[in-house]
Amino acid sequence: MKKDNPTPQGEEIVKNAFYNRIAMTSNAPMGLEIASAEGPFLKTITGKKYVDFISGIAVSSLGHRHPNVIAAIQEQLNHHLHVMVYGEFIQRPQSLFADLLTSQLPEQLDRVYFVNSGTEAIEGALKLAKKYTGRSEFVSFENSYHGDTQGSLSVTGRDIYRNPYEPLLPGVTFLNFNDDSDLDQITEQTAAVILEPIQGEGGIIPAEEKWLKSVRQRCDETGALLIFDEIQSGFGRTGKLFAFEHYGVVPDILCMAKAMGGGMPIGGFASSSKIFETFKFDPPLNHVTTFGGHPVSCAAGYANLKTILEENLIDRAPYIEEKIRTTLEGKPGVIEIRGKGAMLGMELKDKDFTQKVVEICMEEGVILGWTLHSNTLVRLAPPLIIDDETLDWTLGVIGKALETVRPDRF
Ligand code: PMP
Repeated sequence: MKKDNPTPQGEEIVKNAFYNRIAMTSNAPMGLEIASAEGPFLKTITGKKYVDFISGIAVSSLGHRHPNVIAAIQEQLNHHLHVMVYGEFIQRPQSLFADLLTSQLPEQLDRVYFVNSGTEAIEGALKLAKKYTGRSEFVSFENSYHGDTQGSLSVTGRDIYRNPYEPLLPGVTFLNFNDDSDLDQITEQTAAVILEPIQGEGGIIPAEEKWLKSVRQRCDETGALLIFDEIQSGFGRTGKLFAFEHYGVVPDILCMAKAMGGGMPIGGFASSSKIFETFKFDPPLNHVTTFGGHPVSCAAGYANLKTILEENLIDRAPYIEEKIRTTLEGKPGVIEIRGKGAMLGMELKDKDFTQKVVEICMEEGVILGWTLHSNTLVRLAPPLIIDDETLDWTLGVIGKALETVRPDRF
């Protein structure tokens, strides 16, 4: 049917369509029109330059348009795009990426299943755990975030997001993060326990080592699998390739996405050959994906990981953390800076103060953001490639904003 108000032609079309034709779930979109993005910077169509201090939410760890990633994409374009549902044809970029990735993981995580996004990695991991254990219950944790499709949402620990979509998966129990008093709720009926070693959207909350070891032990006692969601914490962001390496606790299934493709969409879940074997039988092909492991995304992912490793970018994360902490800790209104490496959250005094500080930074050319579950926690997640000059300048802007807004005025 023809629309009453046809879309205007020319310059206005983009803005108009953004507000009126694109379905969105934000009720206050930033609405910056991006012309280009390079390294740690974004440029709008008006020519204003911003430092992307949230890396497109933990995606652009190598910055935007890293030359190695662009070259790998261009090279793959000369060969082929999609050719077949994932896992049937041999596709060079998939094999090379899987080989490099598993070479960096503990022995028992010797295979990876590629998907397109974080939530698909979680969906696959939940199905794999059910199929392997023959059990159907899950244990998750309050304040967790695992994605927005129905399986991931079922194990997401915030009821305001789950409630509108109930009934979701039955048999999910939520325990308190970092609390070992009720780990006996992990039982012989539990297919898997799922957690983020550093909770992201829940407020950048690192797991405590002793607790994580107790969870691992309880899983071993009961035969439940342990799934780590490292979709946000992976690929060097916390100062290790994956955050679990800080703890010496290895999961049975590791979920990843976000920074995995250097800006291209890709996710994956890694596990052992033994556990993955179960996906091949009763019936065969019981987990398939058309676009998962897209060759262009895999080529980008390979170049992304190779660059992280060869350029020692993982070591930049603790350096960035140190700079952020020494510059911003103790500034007016800063209650706490928590997290690890370049996955930090700055807890501020209250909502109005936080909003004003973020607004001022934005005016000055620094993009900050909130986490999904909090309006007083400012996310600090710069690209690992950010140079010292840009980092110092950005921290100067944030520091000045904190001093200008002054929490005692609210
Ligand atoms: N798990 C975690 C820890 C995440 O941070 C996110 C995304 N914020 C997801 C899962 C879902 O990933 P995606 O948006 O790619 O589906």
